Amino acid sequence: MERADALVLFGITGDLSEKKLLPALYELTVEGRLDIPVVGVARSGWTLDDLCAHVRRVLADRDQTAVDQLCSRLRHVDGDYQDPATFADLAEQLEDVQRPLFFMAIPPSLFEKVATSLAGVGLSQRGRLVIEKPFGRDLASAIELNDILHRHFREDQIFRIDHFLGKEPVQNLLVFRFANSLLEPIWNRHHVASVMVTMAESYGIEGRGRFYDGVGAIRDVIQNHLLQIVGLLAMEPPVSGDPDALRDEVVKVLKAVQPLTDDNVIRGQYDGYLDESNVAPDSTTETFAAIDLRIDNWRWAGVPFCIRAGKGMAETVTEARIVLQETPQDLFAPAGKPPPNVITFRMKPDDVISMTMQAKVPGQETRAESLDLTVDYGEALGGDGPDPYERLIGDAIDGDPRLFARQDSVEQAWRIVEGVLDPSAPIHTYERGSWGPQLADTMLPPGRCWPEDE
Ligand code: NDP
Repeated sequence: MERADALVLFGITGDLSEKKLLPALYELTVEGRLDIPVVGVARSGWTLDDLCAHVRRVLADRDQTAVDQLCSRLRHVDGDYQDPATFADLAEQLEDVQRPLFFMAIPPSLFEKVATSLAGVGLSQRGRLVIEKPFGRDLASAIELNDILHRHFREDQIFRIDHFLGKEPVQNLLVFRFANSLLEPIWNRHHVASVMVTMAESYGIEGRGRFYDGVGAIRDVIQNHLLQIVGLLAMEPPVSGDPDALRDEVVKVLKAVQPLTDDNVIRGQYDGYLDESNVAPDSTTETFAAIDLRIDNWRWAGVPFCIRAGKGMAETVTEARIVLQETPQDLFAPAGKPPPNVITFRMKPDDVISMTMQAKVPGQETRAESLDLTVDYGEALGGDGPDPYERLIGDAIDGDPRLFARQDSVEQAWRIVEGVLDPSAPIHTYERGSWGPQLADTMLPPGRCWPEDE
């Protein structure tokens, strides 16, 4: 796919632009990868000078030579998305542009309007579209949004952002799995007893009640980020390095996941959530969910994938733990059976891989104890790498869809969670700073505990 020759940023005055997109554009500028005009579109009544002043304010602590360079690429179209004149102006600005990239950093309720209006001024045929999350609220709305977009854009023109896929440690899951022949022989139901994926955030909703209260943990992070991680952990090796070969395998494994029911989910809400601003006083929105997920295929049948995500938790950590089978015999009795080996991929707060091994404790008795073989590979290999948005905007400009979610995987992920989006099951209150409701333990196989209790 050819490189885009202009970036059009719908929502350039918004929160996402300020926090993520403008800093990413700055980094791309520093690297010399942003050599195209950037057209901001919003309705603030700003001039181009106002927009430049905004960009300078957001990037005040950065190198001002690069900020000047970024500002020199800026264009601005001011207008409401409901007004056809906005798109006529935009079309005029893009007269000499062959392959614009449209980035929709706007409320989801406007996706349809903007896509249709772009088509109305003849810009959809030659453009590509980046869509921010959330992609639908459930399966039906995701299908409907796909249908609307496909009226004007082909699937290969649509780039759905799941910023988790732009994170270095998430991409590293693929390298760990498919660049190390050591893992493949044990990566199956014969050797793996269970898989645990945790995304815990120590902070709460931080004043974002208006957004969060209608969403909850399952829609916010499990349907997208955590199911994509499960896909990368559990998929078969792609048949080639082609972007679609990778995405085909993610879809195949998601298709094998059994749909969730209330029996597979424990939902929690942190104490004090109902006092947050813009939260309904009787809200049953979950700020925590623990899930027992099953993949019904040859490789993983019978292996529990225990997933949990929560806010107001004891720590901020994202990790996947692969718990191997216990040894078949207890050779070291009466000291007790050694615990199983565990391989951990930690993605936050640091990029760490670790493997527990059993070793003999010095002394008369033959007693094994767990040792952690741990590498902070982020540090070992020279830093954190690009921010996810920098990586993803760069890829979208280059036309590389590898790290963007395809329609079929988004729909599969909604199919999996569909049955627990508006559940009748109870919600359990948990203390802030804890690891969620105690009942989350019931989502684990008998005898196992979450990592913090090991
Ligand atoms: P904001 O409400 O902060 O910004 C929305 C932007 O859209 C503003 O630039 C606003 O312009 C513009 N806009 C809204 N309505 C119109 C209209 N009718 N005509 C012209 N411009 C309009 O939203 P966010 O930046 O927070 O979110 C944008 C998208 O990113 C959403 O889809 C959200 O779900 C997603 N997202 C956001 C995250 C975040 O941390 N903020 C994280 C992950 C995803 P103006 O200011 O001129 O009104």
